[in-house]
Amino acid sequence: MVAHHSAAHSHEGALALTGANSNMSDLVIAGGGLAGLLVAWRCLTTGNARHITIVEGGSQIGGDHTWSFNETDLTAEAFDWFRPALAHHWPGYHVHFPDYSRRLDIGYCSSNSASVRSAIQPFIDKGQLVIVTDARVAEISDSTVRLENGDTIEGGAVIDATGFKPHPAVLLGYQKFVGQIIRTRSPHGLDVPIIMDATVAQGDAYRFVYCLPYGPDEVLIEDTYYEDGPELDDAVIVDRISAYAASKDWQIAEILHTERGILPITLASDLEARIQGEARAAPKIGLAGGLYNAVTGYSLPDAVTMAMRLGDLPDLSQARVAEAVLAYRRSHWQREKFFRLLNRMLFKAGKPSERYKVLQRFYRLDEPLVSAFYRGDLSLLQKARILSGKPPVPVGEAIYNLSEHQFMKRHRS
Ligand SMILES: Cc1cc2nc3c(=O)[nH]c(=O)nc-3n(C[C@H](O)[C@H](O)[C@H](O)COP(=O)(O)OP(=O)(O)OC[C@H]3O[C@@H](n4cnc5c(N)ncnc54)[C@H](O)[C@@H]3O)c2cc1C
Repeated sequence: MVAHHSAAHSHEGALALTGANSNMSDLVIAGGGLAGLLVAWRCLTTGNARHITIVEGGSQIGGDHTWSFNETDLTAEAFDWFRPALAHHWPGYHVHFPDYSRRLDIGYCSSNSASVRSAIQPFIDKGQLVIVTDARVAEISDSTVRLENGDTIEGGAVIDATGFKPHPAVLLGYQKFVGQIIRTRSPHGLDVPIIMDATVAQGDAYRFVYCLPYGPDEVLIEDTYYEDGPELDDAVIVDRISAYAASKDWQIAEILHTERGILPITLASDLEARIQGEARAAPKIGLAGGLYNAVTGYSLPDAVTMAMRLGDLPDLSQARVAEAVLAYRRSHWQREKFFRLLNRMLFKAGKPSERYKVLQRFYRLDEPLVSAFYRGDLSLLQKARILSGKPPVPVGEAIYNLSEHQFMKRHRS
């Protein structure tokens, strides 16, 4: 149940909060990004929530994003549920490295802000999902959301889905990119994505270009860097995107969209230290809860899985929600241990200009292993295969970075 004190000041917010269902929410979600929207969609679909309120600081829910993932990142049940929010679905993709190129027949999918918004629209139309925009949250406790304007909203349960915040117990590298959707003067000829083209010049980072063909003459080109710091010089990268298009003989007729991303890549983290500091805080999902792939920074698969877990709860009492979120964060942290180790190898052992060799070697492995890697579900044997053979980074430095605990102690100041 929700109790709302005082009126929201935004137009949409005022409308929503004076509506018939304004004081009847089973769940209040702070942050209307990917993670928050998926939980609302799933819980209203399964029916364990009848009314949900999302409080979003921006002017619209869902932002303006593209979210991609491997089809095999999701279970068949999760994929079926998520299908209405898909914008593109390809049967495979290419990777290119200086010494090696390959096509993988792993389905690749893209969703975007518009497709997710349209998937949840029926619940907004029915009045089951109330969206309050332009409402920045100042404080989120386990039962109350307090807005910056002083209003408070209480729910049967409250969730924090307000996106990424740095934390001293999480040590990061970064995946940074600028992406442009371009319209080409003639068909670009790409039938499936190139998710890594690392034949481009390297430098102080692992650099690759990522291309998604949205139509015969429409392609997203992202120039991407795995680097120690978060700085990003957009103008330089936009020039490199043009140069890449030219190298493919793609003449740019129009730039339809530009986006940038600075995604966290976790090198080491102490989840229990984080959790200890969150007493009485609302359960954190999405990037706010560290629920993203440590190697790619991508969060869609975890957001879908978290939504499924919450949607399957018998009820949405705060205690049950908190328990389910915490259990998922702990299992995620455990599952991602190996990936944080690989990140420490990638970022801290060896020269940045040679980081591509780690990926080049990885992509020679078999498809089931590549799928399991992105799903975060590697067997011991598969982990051994990733680490076996002649390491593409110096052994001494690799061993130095093995222990997450020691790494945290050395680098946390
Ligand atoms: C350009 C870009 C491309 C990406 N591509 C992919 C991809 O292809 N695949 C993938 O899986 N991941 C991708 N990611 C990474 C990640 O999945 C996304 O960042 C994803 O949107 C994270 O979801 P989230 O809900 O945790 O956070 P967000 O989507 O950032 O949502 C948080 C929401 O909370 C709101 N908010 C924040 N603070 C407050 C406040 N105080 N009060 C009220 N509201 C607040 C924000 O306005 C926002 O709407 C990409 C990220 C970026 C930036």
